[in-house]
Amino acid sequence: METKLRARVAVAGAGAIGSAAALTLARAGFDVTLFDPGSPGDNASGVAAGMLAPVAEAVFDPVSTPHLALLRRARDRWPAFVEGLDLAILRDGLRVEGEAAWLAGVAARFEALGVPFQRRDGALVDAEDWRIEARPALAALRNAFEALGGRFAPRAFTAGDLPAFSAVVLATGAGDAGGLAPELAALAPIKGQILRADRGPATGPVIRGEGVYVCPGDSPAIGATMELGRADLTVDPAATAALRAAAIRLRPELAEAVLTTEVGIRAATPDGLPLVGWSATPGVILAVGARRNGWLLAPLVADLVAAYLKGDNPGPDAASLDARRFSRT
Ligand SMILES: Cc1cc2nc3c(=O)[nH]c(=O)nc-3n(C[C@H](O)[C@H](O)[C@H](O)COP(=O)(O)OP(=O)(O)OC[C@H]3O[C@@H](n4cnc5c(N)ncnc54)[C@H](O)[C@@H]3O)c2cc1C
Repeated sequence: METKLRARVAVAGAGAIGSAAALTLARAGFDVTLFDPGSPGDNASGVAAGMLAPVAEAVFDPVSTPHLALLRRARDRWPAFVEGLDLAILRDGLRVEGEAAWLAGVAARFEALGVPFQRRDGALVDAEDWRIEARPALAALRNAFEALGGRFAPRAFTAGDLPAFSAVVLATGAGDAGGLAPELAALAPIKGQILRADRGPATGPVIRGEGVYVCPGDSPAIGATMELGRADLTVDPAATAALRAAAIRLRPELAEAVLTTEVGIRAATPDGLPLVGWSATPGVILAVGARRNGWLLAPLVADLVAAYLKGDNPGPDAASLDARRFSRT
């Protein structure tokens, strides 16, 4: 009787991208080992607000504006991705509040992008954006991965591990991938500080104001700084003072809140999209550089990685995310 051996694949990094890739590969029948030396959630993915927010990103982040269609396609992969998982998608949308002149500018950006929105009680409201709770999501992905027989190795993946696997997926975020792929030179760090409040909105839409968002939850998130070129995890109250003040203008009860600062490092490419696909290094697939949309993009990136490993057509977004687009000569 013929025995079909399952391809052994390593995934380096158990953030949103690596966890999603590991689960998707395990679902596809690969024999997967997920490596990470850190504690669960002790990464940018654990710190993140968990917004799956193509509209807010396109409206408020100029680097993301040209990618609205791709970001929407990424969001649309979430319902199938969470099927069977202990992970809820929260679909309360987005509410933008602020001074009339600023709000008029935001409304103009919605209109320029052709994104439908409503005006309600002096705010702009959009139903398209979703969110998840980041740390519980990481746990749900890990549990589902291990339930399918996936293995977790609590250490860093190194070049010495390569021969034991038919391929490695580098999902190392802004971390050190040990020089495994030359394409990683395109990445730059962006430090993000985010405040967690001990009170504030527990449910409802993400609230956006000028220079801030308040993301509801058990510990509502107030975010976030974008500190280009910084890769340190130092908490800097001066950097978050403006966030706190802007959040209090939106929800005055936050003035009484005890705030805890968390810090994560995003990895970013020059065009704001991740590097996904085969490296010039044989056997290495990249899944890095998701900048401020790693959660939103995780199921799309995971599907692309699975397509590359299966030899399937990776689909219409493969070219925009091509892992070698900054390193080809
Ligand atoms: C303040 C803040 C708020 C954010 N909010 C959102 C949001 O609302 N929505 C959204 O979509 N995105 C958000 N982001 C962005 C998002 O967090 C990132 O894009 C995403 O976390 C990237 O995931 P990742 O898996 O690539 O990297 P990480 O989460 O950084 O994970 C990389 C992992 O790789 C591990 N690692 C490193 N080297 C090795 C190695 N050699 N071997 C094995 N493992 C290794 C690390 O220990 C780490 O656990 C936010 C980011 C920040 C900082």
